[in-house]
Amino acid sequence: MKEFRKPVAMVPHHRAIREWILTTTLLAVGCFVLIAAAYRHYAVKTAPGGYAKAGSAPELEVTFLDVGQGDSIFIRTPSGRVVLVDAGPGKGEYSRFDAGERVVVPFLKRMGIRKIDTLVMTHPHADHYGGMFALLGKFEIGEFLDPGQPYPSELYESLLEKLDKLGTPYRLTRAPSTLDWDPSMLVQVLWPEEGHLENANPNNVSIVLRIVHGNNVYLLTGDIEMEIEMQLNAYQSGLRSTVLKIPHHGSTTSSSQRFLEYVRPRLAVMQLGINNKFGFPERAITERYRSFEIPVHRTDLTGTARTFSDGNRIKVQPEKGTPFTIHPFPSEPPEATP
Ligand SMILES: [Zn+2]
Repeated sequence: MKEFRKPVAMVPHHRAIREWILTTTLLAVGCFVLIAAAYRHYAVKTAPGGYAKAGSAPELEVTFLDVGQGDSIFIRTPSGRVVLVDAGPGKGEYSRFDAGERVVVPFLKRMGIRKIDTLVMTHPHADHYGGMFALLGKFEIGEFLDPGQPYPSELYESLLEKLDKLGTPYRLTRAPSTLDWDPSMLVQVLWPEEGHLENANPNNVSIVLRIVHGNNVYLLTGDIEMEIEMQLNAYQSGLRSTVLKIPHHGSTTSSSQRFLEYVRPRLAVMQLGINNKFGFPERAITERYRSFEIPVHRTDLTGTARTFSDGNRIKVQPEKGTPFTIHPFPSEPPEATP
């Protein structure tokens, strides 16, 4: 026999009201819980630096740390993924102090970071990975990205061994490919390409990343030299960027004329140590950026530069100096290529 059910219309009026009140209350409580969770999420995410207000729209942060003579770039994506590209020098050949211990670890702690989802080593030179040892055991590391050049260095091998012992997943990184870091970003690996790894100058195996967030583009170049810039010139106007991490600390090996014509950034960031023994930046390079009218932030002069992209503009907060805002290029046609 079929079960008899009262049609909805026949439910007594007061019962319908009770159900309506119950549903509405549950919805309201649900919304409150969600809003409170989101508020807490943003408050926790942004509190340590105090730069973003709780509950404000999620931004992409790309911070160029002053690690002395070397590179280290901290990235936090709008959905909260934490990426560290290089970690500065350890104590030794490049530096009188361990930049990992002195700069990177304290910065990450101030940011409330417990896990580095992706640790990128652009290339096996110690001014880029020496500081990584200080991170091990202090932060969980989700994965390690390596250009994987066969490079005979005890220090590099000991880093790989330590990461392996910690069970850190190892990922060889090759161009062309994309990295799945955040649904609101496109992250392209432009270098190194297969066939350029054996016996190459380690600078020239540097992982080059192009990070697109809305209209903003960051181009992170490691220490690539002119011959790789010439390879990348094949992308032509596809190299156009809002922010360029100047390749190889302002050395004349890099920042070639044609490459800068394609990239034409609104801001270029040079990571280097004050009075470094290499004589960086070389005068010809600072003059070249000047002739292109590209403003340069130098970490040796104005310290760490924190940048925040909302997809339309980038707020730049230098450690020493006044904050300013940059905008991506308007959609003017790219330079015609000769
Ligand atoms: Zn370097």
